[in-house]
Amino acid sequence: MNAVTPMPATTASDRLLRDQSVAKQLLSGAILEENVFPYPAIGERDREVLGMIVESVDRFLDGKDAEFAKWDRDAHQPAEFVQSLRELGLFGLIIPEEFGGLGLSNAAYARVLSETSSHDSSISLTIGAHSSIGMKGLLLFGNDEQKARYLPKLASGEMIAAFCLTESGAGSDAAAIRTHAKRNGDGSWTLNGEKIWITNGGIADFYTVFARTDGPEGKITAFLVEAAWPGVSHGKHEDKMGIRASSTASVAFADVRVPPENVLGEIGKGFKVAMGILNNGRTGLGGGAVGGMKALIKRSVAYAQERRQFERPIAEFGLVREKIAQMTVDCFAAESAVWMVAHYIDAGCVDYSTEAAITKVFASEAMQRTAYEALQIAGGNGYMRDLPYEQYVRDARILPIFEGANEILRLFIALSTLKDVGASLKELRSALGSIFNEPIKGFGVLSGYAERRFTRATGIGGGGLKTPLAPELRPLAAIYENYARAAARVAEASLRAYGKGISERQYVQKRIADLLIDLFVGLCVISRADSLLASRPETRAQVLQIARIFTHQARRRMVRNIRGAAHNEDDAVDALAGAVLERGHYPWDVL
Ligand SMILES: Cc1cc2nc3c(=O)[nH]c(=O)nc-3n(C[C@H](O)[C@H](O)[C@H](O)COP(=O)(O)OP(=O)(O)OC[C@H]3O[C@@H](n4cnc5c(N)ncnc54)[C@H](O)[C@@H]3O)c2cc1C
Repeated sequence: MNAVTPMPATTASDRLLRDQSVAKQLLSGAILEENVFPYPAIGERDREVLGMIVESVDRFLDGKDAEFAKWDRDAHQPAEFVQSLRELGLFGLIIPEEFGGLGLSNAAYARVLSETSSHDSSISLTIGAHSSIGMKGLLLFGNDEQKARYLPKLASGEMIAAFCLTESGAGSDAAAIRTHAKRNGDGSWTLNGEKIWITNGGIADFYTVFARTDGPEGKITAFLVEAAWPGVSHGKHEDKMGIRASSTASVAFADVRVPPENVLGEIGKGFKVAMGILNNGRTGLGGGAVGGMKALIKRSVAYAQERRQFERPIAEFGLVREKIAQMTVDCFAAESAVWMVAHYIDAGCVDYSTEAAITKVFASEAMQRTAYEALQIAGGNGYMRDLPYEQYVRDARILPIFEGANEILRLFIALSTLKDVGASLKELRSALGSIFNEPIKGFGVLSGYAERRFTRATGIGGGGLKTPLAPELRPLAAIYENYARAAARVAEASLRAYGKGISERQYVQKRIADLLIDLFVGLCVISRADSLLASRPETRAQVLQIARIFTHQARRRMVRNIRGAAHNEDDAVDALAGAVLERGHYPWDVL
């Protein structure tokens, strides 16, 4: 008998539609199965390299808890420790091997940050600000000469990088920056201005700086600036609530001469560069949050089993067990979404910014809940500084604020997807007109959005997911199908009701963003659960429990958000806030 060569299994990358976005399709009522199933597997090279890095990171960081606590108190990360991070290669994680880095994928990089965060968040900040944002612009937008000049030094850590966007008057409204670069006769630039709260600001040698260059080409330009150049200085180490050991400082530029060859990307396209960096870097933050959650689950489990009250370990009480279960569900969901987005980036997808924003919002808020509940399980002990829980709470608090405040990201999630629905509706209207004049063109448009809309309205051509999922997961997946259609109806109704004015309707946008967060994260959970049922059968029961718990919780939230579109207290909420804002204080007293 001839030996049968097994057909290679279809991988997640084979199916991927690289120019399409799952989130955007969800808002037209469809699930882009090609980009959700199967759950991506780790690449062979990543697996080999990761194993070694994670092991050496653990070997180096294990047993240093007392030092991390001291550095948190002293708000200081010793230079010798940063030197050890260099020696471990942690500044070269995502830099290609040809420049002396480790050439890790986005997914493997996020996994390393998850490991460092499980020991101490400040370490992840030092490494993450360098790689995720500090020198990411050079990787994404730099030319060959710039890469050859800087990447080897950035890979070895001889140069540490920082990302300089925020200013005192320009936080969420990053386009309002006032740092200014004026072009000189010889083509060089003179840079003036001050950036605040720059991670690694006090220790960096290399800054990616965004400055106003109002001119015919556009408004903002990105520059590569060396700390050693005349006119560059930094302020004191900021005294922060959390991540205290990591360097945060202002960075000032006084008549700094920047050579023409240090413009990063196109002149006038700096805002696009900044957003490209932030979108691409979000999985680093997500990976860090997942690492923190895993560490807290481990600590909480040990604490709950050891601590006895009412003559029993507190781990026997339902209200403690509920917290452990919720932490596990949150961690699994965040992890599933973060690594799905990392896969999109690694596989060369172009339209992943909405999904990246969704994972940042979900992972950062999941970490908040986990840190809060872990401290609650530890009770009064958790409140004391002898144990690390209070530090976790303080460290985690920055996650929903920086790299895009979660409010801004929710608006972005809603508006970036609504824009597509709006454009498609407009196209649909004109296509319906052209069907009569230009049938081919008209039906061409109908093959995309309108077809999905037709299916949604009539049920014809739908027929459920085509992916053969485990039978236990099918009813759960059907919930996401149903609610994607419901979310699409809400989106269309909102667009009809408010038109362009929807950009001012933040309560409406928040509900749509929250629907998309539940839908996208939920689908990642189902996809990962399906693959784990096959690859880790010994955890089958727990994986199914997680998928059921997340999906039913998500469904309750989605019901609330869909009902809220028609029945809500938005006007009352807005009026009350207006009254309190006008009065300036809470106006009642019981006595
Ligand atoms: C520890 C730390 C490290 C940082 N590291 C860096 C770094 O390395 N590089 C860098 O460039 N920046 C960095 N930042 C800055 C950070 O990115 C900003 O703090 C963040 O973008 C938010 O800006 P802001 O603090 O000025 O808040 P604001 O923009 O003043 O916002 C305040 C609040 O109002 C809300 N809000 C603002 N506008 C709107 C709106 N249109 N609709 C609804 N709500 C709105 C926000 O969501 C937020 O809740 C860091 C900040 C901190 C605290």
